[in-house]
Amino acid sequence: MESINMQKQFPILNQKIHGYPLVYLDNAASTQKPLQVIESLQQYYEQDNANVHRGVHTLSSRATDAYEGARKKVANFLNAETEKEVIFTRGTTSSINLVASSYARAVCNEGDEIVISAMEHHSNLLPWQQVAKATKAKLKHIPLQNDGTFSIGDAEKAITSHTKIVAVSHVSNVLGIANPVKQMAAIAHKHGAVIMVDGAQSVPHIKVDVQDLGCDFYAFSGHKMCGPTGIGVLYGKKQLLEKMEPIEFGGEMIDHVDLHDASWKELPWKFEGGTPIIAGAIGLGTAIDFLEGIGLDTIEKHDKQLTSYAVERMKQIEDVTMYGPDDGRFGLVTFNLGKVHPHDLATVLDTYGIAIRAGHHCCQPLMRHFEASATARASFYLYNTEEDIERFILALEKTKEFFK
Ligand code: PLP
Repeated sequence: MESINMQKQFPILNQKIHGYPLVYLDNAASTQKPLQVIESLQQYYEQDNANVHRGVHTLSSRATDAYEGARKKVANFLNAETEKEVIFTRGTTSSINLVASSYARAVCNEGDEIVISAMEHHSNLLPWQQVAKATKAKLKHIPLQNDGTFSIGDAEKAITSHTKIVAVSHVSNVLGIANPVKQMAAIAHKHGAVIMVDGAQSVPHIKVDVQDLGCDFYAFSGHKMCGPTGIGVLYGKKQLLEKMEPIEFGGEMIDHVDLHDASWKELPWKFEGGTPIIAGAIGLGTAIDFLEGIGLDTIEKHDKQLTSYAVERMKQIEDVTMYGPDDGRFGLVTFNLGKVHPHDLATVLDTYGIAIRAGHHCCQPLMRHFEASATARASFYLYNTEEDIERFILALEKTKEFFK
């Protein structure tokens, strides 16, 4: 397996937990930050900190250049047509809520349909439930097959001339597999609908080209791809964003204000009311530099190979049930160990220095599909190694013995 020797660049990984070297396998929840990102935040706060856009002094223009420079990096990273299509938000959840509250509430009426898949993270489900309630549009879901995936045929059946919005994850945070978003974008467009893609679990692992995918909106979070918490992105096609109304009103986003009315700035600033997440955006820009320095192709290959390796090793442990299709996982595996409650499993693994996640993973409908109230999830990233997997497997075996 091609290995990426990264441990030294992630200071947090060089510590012991309960006397064992930390093995961090909770990357789908949040990834660790390389020195490069930590130093860029420090440099900003030590040397350049000021509010953006409004100031004429040196620090403000430095902060503005760095903030807007980060936007350009995101635009290039996603292959957006222009940086006007990049809105900084708090994360995937905020990005999806922006589209739901602005675009969807304006276009949906009684009789219209919003189509989602039944595997969605709550962040790509609840905003659409709220739109459906407010507009009387119907929220439809694409049914799941036994393994938790849906077929493109069923997606094609669900999307009709009544559909206004299709909302789907690019990579599932439970199954780890990629959905056919490019095909779904084409189907949505054939019916005059738009597609919103939740990219929280794809952008960290694969090269995303929004123009090639043909998606109208694309959301992701900085903290899941080596960037800081509190920063995320909404990509939207310029012609759609231009027609949309802001959902936050106040400073920074206005053009002209009088006591009774106001007009908005042009894109992207009309969606960024108030002082923006300046340090977060700069840190995200550095995280993109870091990932591009390694190469998204290298990262994808590494994460896929490591996941396959983990799956093969887990198959050798009797009593391990894995959820989702056997192949094509992009960096995570969801599982249970016999009748051990996943919270107990995660607690015991922690005593061996191994961090995994347990619970419903913000996917209660998908958990119900599997008739599981909770599952465990191990998720991998560019700094994880085969040695980490071996430590994880050994700890699983010990846990199995413990609960025998
Ligand atoms: N969508 C998916 C598929 C996710 O995995 C997550 C986070 O786990 C989210 C949305 C929400 O991301 P955030 O909490 O960063 O807004």
